[in-house]
Amino acid sequence: MNGLRDGFERTIDYMRISITDRCNLRCVYCMPPGGMQPIAHREILRYEEIIRIIRVAVRLGVSKVRITGGEPLVRKNIVYLIQQIKKIEEIQDLSLTTNGILLNQYADKLAEAGLDRVNVSLDSLHPGRFREITKGRDIALVLKGIEAAERAGLVPIKINMVPIRGINDDEVLDFARLTFHSSYQIRFIEFMPFGSQEIWRPERFIPSDEIRTAVEKMGPLTAVKLRRSGPARYFRFDGAVGVIGFISPLSNHFCSECNRLRLTSDGKLRPCLFSETEIDLKTAIRSGAPDDEIQRLIRLAVAVKPKGHNIKIQDEELRTIMQSKTDPARPMSRIGG
Ligand code: SAM
Repeated sequence: MNGLRDGFERTIDYMRISITDRCNLRCVYCMPPGGMQPIAHREILRYEEIIRIIRVAVRLGVSKVRITGGEPLVRKNIVYLIQQIKKIEEIQDLSLTTNGILLNQYADKLAEAGLDRVNVSLDSLHPGRFREITKGRDIALVLKGIEAAERAGLVPIKINMVPIRGINDDEVLDFARLTFHSSYQIRFIEFMPFGSQEIWRPERFIPSDEIRTAVEKMGPLTAVKLRRSGPARYFRFDGAVGVIGFISPLSNHFCSECNRLRLTSDGKLRPCLFSETEIDLKTAIRSGAPDDEIQRLIRLAVAVKPKGHNIKIQDEELRTIMQSKTDPARPMSRIGG
């Protein structure tokens, strides 16, 4: 194994795998208002196909896997998938991103199966607003899920919030305050031009610096270096238990440190979230390709990984670019967030 290096000296060792395009929430900024035509079941990768891809990828140097969706916990036998991935010795970090609705039900089983940790997406702490954003779901389930994940040892728990101007930006301080007494990593993620055209507008975007300035009014933040910090920049309030992270895909590209490939639920390998380029692994697998060929395709995806994306929020052409990226056929739930 020589490791996967792309054309820009980046080591690619992380695969985010979307196992379904289905979701049990209808978040207003993620799902197009008319809903989505689900991908036919036969087009979704089977667990054995996913496991085969991971086995081939680890031989090339992938050592971190994140399971995502859609909502990964709505797919049947998710615990079995985690058990099987855990058997692959080379995987050093196995995590899952969830909206938390089913987490209370699954936390213990996932931990027993070998899941290392979870990220939970949560965009409001107010029951009424949570219901509005998610189109009708109960925040109590998510809060119970987070507690269950903590008890099960799926830590550190990262809570991802997308602040959107005029929708939930007044809650940033409430989220930040959680770090005083809990060990959560509260991460603010910039709103990106994906998903619902109804909601996306450049004015709704809030750069991380603006959020950080608001948070700093509560007290000084000290930069902290965490193991496996990924693209987030982390800070801590004096005496706080948890940390605050900022993920700034638009205002502060972290492309030069990008170490990931994304596998969509229908079997396409995406070298970059912002690029339409996809390498079709499913067709290869289903037409009987040997492991060598799968390896070649993974290497190809790495070879075509772009240096970076060019979306900058101040750009004159922003509106045009953003509009072209808000194709309702490709929200995050399709690509794998
Ligand atoms: N269902 C899982 C969850 O809720 O975490 C995984 C999939 S979801 C698509 C992954 C993440 O994408 C969520 O944290 C969601 O907030 C984020 N997301 C969706 N659309 C986004 C957008 N336009 N900008 C920024 N983040 C977005």
